[in-house]
Amino acid sequence: MNKQQRRAVIAGNWKMNLLPNEATAFVETLKPLVAGCGCDVVLCAPFVDLQAAIAAAAGSKVKIGAQNCHWAASGAFTGEVAAPMLRAIGAEYVITGHSERRALFGDTDETVAKRTRAGLDAGLTVILCVGEYLEQRQQNITVEVIRMQTKIALTGVSREELARVIIAYEPVWAIGTGLTATAAQANEVNKAIRDLLAELYDQATADSVTIQYGGSMNAANAAELLAQPDVDGGLIGGASLKTADFAAIIKAASI
Ligand code: PEP
Repeated sequence: MNKQQRRAVIAGNWKMNLLPNEATAFVETLKPLVAGCGCDVVLCAPFVDLQAAIAAAAGSKVKIGAQNCHWAASGAFTGEVAAPMLRAIGAEYVITGHSERRALFGDTDETVAKRTRAGLDAGLTVILCVGEYLEQRQQNITVEVIRMQTKIALTGVSREELARVIIAYEPVWAIGTGLTATAAQANEVNKAIRDLLAELYDQATADSVTIQYGGSMNAANAAELLAQPDVDGGLIGGASLKTADFAAIIKAASI
């Protein structure tokens, strides 16, 4: 299976932005802009925006996801949200392992694996983020870091379940910084992830997995990144907060 046969997915990560009424307005504006697009479109919203976004997106190309989930289905975890709760309100996706969760909220490779498991058990599609720090890239250990993060996060994930996993390669030094990996750097790491998947599963399975790039992707640089043979879409932060920019990235992915 080659790039043309894989699902291209452009996902927005709104992070901690937009009130529910703003989420509704955003989705309403986006819908006509992406109605005929040739890729899947996902918006990952703050928990309190989910129901508004899901209602606004109903029946359209736009699918809605959360930015995190707890690993337990319920229990004494004050302030947390469980994956079955997300599924129950109609969310279809969840991000796990975002570098901001890892750096600011103590997520480890092990808890990312548990959150990934919970998302899959609840019937969600998981957007699993992996990425190296700048020092790790400078030490030439990027591929080792990415392989380890990916391998641990996929512990116990079956071949069938992998159909509901999207992997987002997000170099930490490129997130929210305006610095973007070159197209060659993005493709090299995405290809390394695919090679790992072939080792863990098999080549056909590896070839079917959508592997995104994320890190300061925008309307100007999206086309070059998305044209790479192993870059099957993008996870977009800042540029997903502007409908015109986000729609332009979606258009670049649809060619
Ligand atoms: C992200 O938050 O996943 C991200 C890629 O952010 P940005 O596009 O702003 O770098």
